[in-house]
Amino acid sequence: MKVLVTGGAGYIGSHMVRTLIDRGHGVVVVDDLSSGHRDAVAAEAAFVEADVADGVRMLALLREHGVEAVLHFAGKIRVDESVVDPATYWRGNVTASLALLGAVLEAKVPSFVFSSTAAVYGDPETVPIPEDHPTRPVNPYGDSKLTVERILSSYGVAHGLRWAALRYFNAAGANAGAGLGERHDPESHLIPIVLDVALGRREKVSIYGTDWPTPDGTCVRDYIHVCDLADAHLAALEHLTKGGESGAFNLGTGRGASVREVVEVVREVTGKAVLAVSAPRRAGDPPELVAGVERAARILGWRAKQSDLRTIVADAWLARARLPG
Ligand code: UDP
Repeated sequence: MKVLVTGGAGYIGSHMVRTLIDRGHGVVVVDDLSSGHRDAVAAEAAFVEADVADGVRMLALLREHGVEAVLHFAGKIRVDESVVDPATYWRGNVTASLALLGAVLEAKVPSFVFSSTAAVYGDPETVPIPEDHPTRPVNPYGDSKLTVERILSSYGVAHGLRWAALRYFNAAGANAGAGLGERHDPESHLIPIVLDVALGRREKVSIYGTDWPTPDGTCVRDYIHVCDLADAHLAALEHLTKGGESGAFNLGTGRGASVREVVEVVREVTGKAVLAVSAPRRAGDPPELVAGVERAARILGWRAKQSDLRTIVADAWLARARLPG
């Protein structure tokens, strides 16, 4: 199948491109390289440096390449930035998606898979979180992703677009064998930061809150291997192309790990000392986010297979150690 991948030079997108190519699909990547890396894009993919918000260009690309499905990863991803600069999030996540979707409808591309997030749930009332849990995002990032989900739903009704919104929990790990990894600048995510301490590139990791109502007082998250995420997108794509029902799906493992557990696993896997110090809570952090995974299993036939925390950390370590310090 011919697939357009937006944000294909980014962390999750670049892993997706590798998986698609390994499964024999044709791939066109669109990325403006505002945060992605050109060298992360598999050589077998066609690469176009462009902004997804350029609807005229997107329409031309969809037609020129005979695209049969779009996987839309491009977007802004920082919760803290979204709070201080919401306009960038409405523009980068909503306006850009609207432009892309306009082109998708006009080119009559039937299937669309969207990168959504657990942040659409806000502070959960129940954990694990099922997809029908109320969606009350607590920051513009989650709000902007939820808005795109609503746009997709309305386009499904009005225009017959088949769509899946995949709500990622905590993407982590790497396909180090393919030369891929997580490279954000600045880095704000827990696992790469702890690995940098193990590598001696940082002095310490601050644990944001040690008095949360969780078993060890630190926040609990559901870490999902980026290669499992890529497999879930393939499952969603197959589901949609077979005429399966559109909707939102959590992508997680159904199991949580605390910040302290992550630090401990990094110590075990790397054999290095890691200095971890208590720090104040970070604004906007819910204490516990764990995915309800039944829906993705039942409808997409997908479950995480390589998301054991040790596997995630070992793979991330291989990739991280290779990055220039
Ligand atoms: N965290 C931490 N120290 C850090 C970075 C993150 O204690 O330097 C915590 C953060 O508060 C959250 C968890 O680690 O509870 C995962 O954070 P991350 O930013 O990786 O992902 P998020 O859950 O915010 O999407």
